[in-house]
Amino acid sequence: MVETHGTASLVIAADIGGTLLRAAIVDADGRILARHALPNEPARGIEHAQAQLISLFDRLIEEHPASVVEAIGIASAGPIDPTDGTYRHPPNLPGWHGHSMRDGLRTRYRVPVVFGHDATLAALAETRFGTHRGSEHLVYLTIGTGIGAGIVAHSATVTGAHGGAGEAGHMIVRPGGPQCGAGCSGCLEAIALGSGIAAATRRAVAAGTATSLGADATALDVFAAADAGDSFALRLIADVVDALAIGLANLLAVLDPEVILLGGGVVDGLRPRWPSLLAATKAHALPRYAGGVPIEPSALGSDANLLGAAAIALGAASHARP
Ligand SMILES: [Zn+2]
Repeated sequence: MVETHGTASLVIAADIGGTLLRAAIVDADGRILARHALPNEPARGIEHAQAQLISLFDRLIEEHPASVVEAIGIASAGPIDPTDGTYRHPPNLPGWHGHSMRDGLRTRYRVPVVFGHDATLAALAETRFGTHRGSEHLVYLTIGTGIGAGIVAHSATVTGAHGGAGEAGHMIVRPGGPQCGAGCSGCLEAIALGSGIAAATRRAVAAGTATSLGADATALDVFAAADAGDSFALRLIADVVDALAIGLANLLAVLDPEVILLGGGVVDGLRPRWPSLLAATKAHALPRYAGGVPIEPSALGSDANLLGAAAIALGAASHARP
């Protein structure tokens, strides 16, 4: 720790995604004072990514010379063991299995370095700094390159016995349906991810279904075609919304959260369909939701991961103080 006198205590927060490394310097109230990002190239190895992160951290520290950085918190694509930051066969970080950045970063910066799964930390951030501050039971469902849930229950994050809890993308919503990358059949990821929407379009075009879309259409193209009235695209998006609604109804039934917040890139495409998503979820949900389902878009948006990393770093900093 760099000692200075009468200065503010800050933490460094980082977010390791499949394509982007982000870092920020954050104060005790969750305010992001500065941020920087670099592309992540996971195939070049965890050592390369760690060196990139160090360049981001050094830049942030140089920009705040009058401050003490008390801890580093890292949100990452997983699976990652939250106790020591060791990766467990992460599908979007190939070659990182069995490795951790903890020792290298601790040796360099001489502060506590703590880790968490990105969706879990996003849920934590919503209970600390979001519109549902103080919530003790909250789910954050991210829909982007994958689908995952961060779960807070009784104010604690739920990580499971092996750090693998929250794989909400692999809830089976269409038994016997298309396969996902992990090999299950008819799970939410196989249907509602951008790649699943594109695959369904390819299958329909090959089968001769009438549509304005080509075999190379992306999920964004399908959303646009639905907006333009293409009847195939409208049916496909309605099916995606329904599959998502089944998943949301399952999460409500099992966890009884105060709210489920939706984040990630696909949420923008869903915004015009929000009323139908709520209606479909209510139709699948238990009678206790007859008055409405507590489902909202995340207000923290893409900062949720970073702010969750800041939250665990602030906790580690307070433990480390004499
Ligand atoms: Zn699956």
